[in-house]
Amino acid sequence: MISIVGAGPSGSYLAYLLAKKGEKVNLYEEHSVVGSPIQCTGLTTSSLNGIFDIDENIVINKIRYARIFSPNNNFIEVKLTGTNYVFDRDTFDKYIVNMAINEGAKLHLNSKYNGCINNNSLKIKINNEFKETDLLVGADGPFSNVAKTNGMYNDRKFVYGIQARTKLDCEEDKIDFYLGYGCFGWVVPENNKIARIGIAAYDNSRVEFDRLIKLRKATILNYQSGMIPVYNPKVTTTKDNVYLLGDAATQVKATTYGGIIQGLIAAKEMAKSFEDYDKNWRKSIGKDLWISLYARKIMDRFTTNDYNELVRLFSQYKLKKVLEDNDRDYLAGFALQLLIKEPKLFKFLKYIVFN
Ligand SMILES: Cc1cc2nc3c(=O)[nH]c(=O)nc-3n(C[C@H](O)[C@H](O)[C@H](O)COP(=O)(O)OP(=O)(O)OC[C@H]3O[C@@H](n4cnc5c(N)ncnc54)[C@H](O)[C@@H]3O)c2cc1C
Repeated sequence: MISIVGAGPSGSYLAYLLAKKGEKVNLYEEHSVVGSPIQCTGLTTSSLNGIFDIDENIVINKIRYARIFSPNNNFIEVKLTGTNYVFDRDTFDKYIVNMAINEGAKLHLNSKYNGCINNNSLKIKINNEFKETDLLVGADGPFSNVAKTNGMYNDRKFVYGIQARTKLDCEEDKIDFYLGYGCFGWVVPENNKIARIGIAAYDNSRVEFDRLIKLRKATILNYQSGMIPVYNPKVTTTKDNVYLLGDAATQVKATTYGGIIQGLIAAKEMAKSFEDYDKNWRKSIGKDLWISLYARKIMDRFTTNDYNELVRLFSQYKLKKVLEDNDRDYLAGFALQLLIKEPKLFKFLKYIVFN
């Protein structure tokens, strides 16, 4: 018996893979429905195609271009390597959990994990009742209670993701990234009249968010904010018969704060082997997460002038081409190419801090 806590994309996809292999799986979700409340933009790269078949009916919008704006409002426009998808997390999460249910996984709603006793046998407390299980997986998001109650929480940090669905005029096949607004800001269109506008920031998130809303002359419809864990390379993801996955394991890229694809890839590794999970997820996504983390540490020290200079350098064809030819989920594969093509980028490495 395998117990998974959290029916987000990571937990549900793991439940699907394990049930498909014939394992007995219980999936516990504290809410009364899957996919709510929404605290995400729902943007993924085309690498989702390599993970599972996407039902076109659940795609809200397809994006082909990205514009990156500097604080002085210059921008570069790049054609994306593959189509990026915009989903409603509500529908997306339900889609994956249904894949799991169809393979035989048992979904338990209104079922909150409250702790466990792990001596000779493992017993988990769901609401007020103890249940026996062989393995426990915490896919229960950034503040993972499974991590907290099993000494696996480590030292984790968070950024605040403040986002709203808004009404505005925008181009429906372009996402806009704004440098110099907190860690960065984004405008992700659902269509040419509605977009999800957000920023990720360590502090002053409200001020930075309001600045972007004003810049884009947007009217707020509703909020979809939440906390995003910063990747911790020292995170403990395996301890005896307890495992962490997705946001619970801080498997989020610190450059774009995307974690959907990373959680799904890590779920694949866990379904292949619990024993080698820690080694294998680090092998498949650890390098990209690490490079993203250090790229973020460098960018955290950028001045407004640095961002203006960066966008100016990237407007050169040779650098735009590297961005266009590579998937941003796999930064490790092209970070060096960028430095070789434009040695002036080396100057930004002066900001690197190893801690
Ligand atoms: C504003 C914002 C925008 C974002 N935009 C993007 C984006 O565009 N693209 C992208 O890739 N990523 C994005 N992210 C990050 C992304 O949302 C996460 O990386 C992703 O949701 C992680 O999935 P998960 O399944 O690991 O965790 P979650 O989606 O957090 O799911 C955890 C589940 O566990 C449940 N749970 C928690 N505690 C318990 C408990 N004690 N008992 C039972 N159930 C419990 C929760 O209810 C939830 O259903 C964004 C995040 C924020 C905050």
